Amino acid sequence: MNTSPRALHHIGCGTMCLHGGRLISGAGSLLGTARIICHCLLVEGAEGLVLVDTGFGLDDMRNTRQLGLIFDTLFRPQAREAETAIEQVRALGFAPEDVRHIIATHLDVDHAGGLPDFPDAQVHVLGRELKAAMHPSWRERQRYVAAHWAHGPDWVQHEPEGDEWLGFESVRILPDSDAEILLVPLIGHTRGHTAVAVKHDGRWVLHCGDAYFHHGEMQTPAYCPPVLGAFQNLSSIDNAARRQNSERLRELARRSDAEVELLCSHDPATLARYQDSAGA
Ligand SMILES: [Zn+2]
Repeated sequence: MNTSPRALHHIGCGTMCLHGGRLISGAGSLLGTARIICHCLLVEGAEGLVLVDTGFGLDDMRNTRQLGLIFDTLFRPQAREAETAIEQVRALGFAPEDVRHIIATHLDVDHAGGLPDFPDAQVHVLGRELKAAMHPSWRERQRYVAAHWAHGPDWVQHEPEGDEWLGFESVRILPDSDAEILLVPLIGHTRGHTAVAVKHDGRWVLHCGDAYFHHGEMQTPAYCPPVLGAFQNLSSIDNAARRQNSERLRELARRSDAEVELLCSHDPATLARYQDSAGA
């Protein structure tokens, strides 16, 4: 079986412009605007497209208030319909129906917004994340937006069953596809947060979702802008697990034999590096 998809696109499906400058972005002026993005992957497989995370959707862009007053005010999502996954799928010459599978690292407001734009796709998620989103605790209520699944997605719930990948638990999904794709559960940011590993051209790309926020966190010694670090501590449902998983990822990033590239959802420098190398 061919185990490499034909193409792997790195697409930014949302932009947020926060107040806080260098304290959030690690660069620029102290009090300027800090830009963070929603890094998604679009995998071209033989049987159709697979989307890893969806960022914001069309409805979010037409009315950013549906993302919640606090989120809208603090994160200041920019209303840019052209950045949505559905518009970028069309710009690449595909139809929205070509997206057969969506894999959600988790279902937070800034990751699941595009689900309604692909109502026919199967949506793969860890079972405990779906449970959290459908039955959020008081503390979790602000992170999930029910409008993102009001259309009744075709959920596919996954659970780890003992498989291992580079020392991490893993779940192979789409076993009949030519694309080799694994869920790599990294609990902490949310109850059922997972990374997603995609094999491409003989190497693994590990989309770590919100397991970390800044590329400096994967360097040794690690660096994270202070406000971004505080936000991660405060927003995690299990911060001890998140910190432990972050350390494990840093060890993975140090391994020269692993042939794996790590990326996260919100780091604009990482997305720019991929898009520059693709000539986009
Ligand atoms: Zn996020």
